[in-house]
Amino acid sequence: MTTATAARTAPRAAATGPGPAWAAEMTETPFWHAAAPPEPPSGRAPPAEADVAIVGAGFTGLSAALHLAEAGRRVVVLEAGPPGAGASTRNGGMIGWGHKARLAPLAKRYGEGPARAMLREAQTSLNWTRALLGRLPVDALHRQTGRFLGAGSALHFERLAAWARDEAPALGMEVEVVPAAEQAAHIGSELYRGGLYFPNHGLLHPALFHKGLLEAARNAGAEVIDHAAVTAIAGAPGAWRLATAKGPLTARELVWAGNGYAARGGRAFARFARRLIPVPSFIIATEPVGENRMRSLFPGGHAHVDTRAAHSYYRPCPWGERILWGGRASLLPLPPRVAAARLRDQMLSVYPELGDLRLTHSWTGNVAFSFDGVPHIGQIDGVWHACGYNGSGVAMAPYLGMRLAERLLGPDQGGAVRGSTGFDAARFRAQPLYGGNPWFLRGLEIYYRTRERLEGVARIPRN
Ligand SMILES: Cc1cc2nc3c(=O)[nH]c(=O)nc-3n(C[C@H](O)[C@H](O)[C@H](O)COP(=O)(O)OP(=O)(O)OC[C@H]3O[C@@H](n4cnc5c(N)ncnc54)[C@H](O)[C@@H]3O)c2cc1C
Repeated sequence: MTTATAARTAPRAAATGPGPAWAAEMTETPFWHAAAPPEPPSGRAPPAEADVAIVGAGFTGLSAALHLAEAGRRVVVLEAGPPGAGASTRNGGMIGWGHKARLAPLAKRYGEGPARAMLREAQTSLNWTRALLGRLPVDALHRQTGRFLGAGSALHFERLAAWARDEAPALGMEVEVVPAAEQAAHIGSELYRGGLYFPNHGLLHPALFHKGLLEAARNAGAEVIDHAAVTAIAGAPGAWRLATAKGPLTARELVWAGNGYAARGGRAFARFARRLIPVPSFIIATEPVGENRMRSLFPGGHAHVDTRAAHSYYRPCPWGERILWGGRASLLPLPPRVAAARLRDQMLSVYPELGDLRLTHSWTGNVAFSFDGVPHIGQIDGVWHACGYNGSGVAMAPYLGMRLAERLLGPDQGGAVRGSTGFDAARFRAQPLYGGNPWFLRGLEIYYRTRERLEGVARIPRN
């Protein structure tokens, strides 16, 4: 069966369902898994030793594994579930630069030059990951579609336009300001008050991207051990001892690539839990919509995001027939059906005419926010890491996985340092009164909603 055919066998809406919004067979499995299903449990145990042990088989861990194995290192990747159990096969497949950080607060914290260097990494990561896609053994269905960022209010539009004028050019970011009167070329909705268009962003199929990276890492000689959660670590660089669900392993170097899933290691990686905020993100897929209707909703075929607190992100699926709608249904975990109802409300606030559409999929995954809004790469207590992508890791995670591999490999033959990035100046500190359970998110949710009311953003009606 071809990839496209397999994806099309994903659940379709039944003629009769339990309610107007749901297809009878709505599944909590990501839409992406129809074309690239998780591998069945292998029964393989880790070898006794490795040069480098990598915890986590998502984009970060596999990219690090690929580049280390290509350089001749014996690499073992240990994954708590099947490879890709985390965000890497669950995301929206939007590839671009999505730093949440803005120049002014970042410059206040780190200085103007370092802040600019951090923000410039976004474009570097996009270029680098695009080139990586071209050398993987699986087609990730990547297209440079562009992305439209819709302004939720007139004030938001003013701020976006000022950013595009004053900040973006110096950061090497290509962007066009789209006044409300011209947005019909980008979106079949009148909700927004104009927005920005980023022509070099794109869309891909994240689970096929992950599959390509997994195959490439294995082809280069990396071993990937599934269902082998790392539950304890001891030792130091040069002689790490790891306890996993499938037996022990010793390694000279240890990489943590768990991003939003620090809790999967129990206390073993508490040092990262204390530095990152795990936040769930949610996505729904609709039943097939029909070609003409899709064209009127997505006239440019772009990726879409907006400035509202619910942070909607949505796109056509790679075959153009369904809408995939993601958002921050909540900053805290929610049952998929409850999340789906909230995302459907978001969708109807943009496209009120879609009330008859059934939902076929609803799933979730964790992202990791950092306290300063930028990713972090380096070593803490001897453990290497790259993490904290703040919800935008499709380009950044593979790129920093590669940079991490360069760091581990050390200076090149001429003695030049490898693996440096703009993020080297960022401080990755544990937070007082915080152990990994983000008790403050409920308050933050209320703050965001109050602020957006004051900024003139229309409330999302409940349907
Ligand atoms: C719903 C959703 C939508 C998103 N949409 C986008 C988007 O459109 N564009 C974009 O740029 N980004 C998006 N992101 C973010 C992006 O997916 C992530 O930033 C990226 O996948 C992070 O990759 P990673 O390899 O670091 O982490 P992950 O893919 O989360 O992998 C971490 C892995 O580590 C494993 N692990 C953790 N602890 C242990 C342990 N102790 N032992 C063994 N294994 C362990 C986990 O099981 C997991 O598989 C989205 C994320 C989500 C959840």
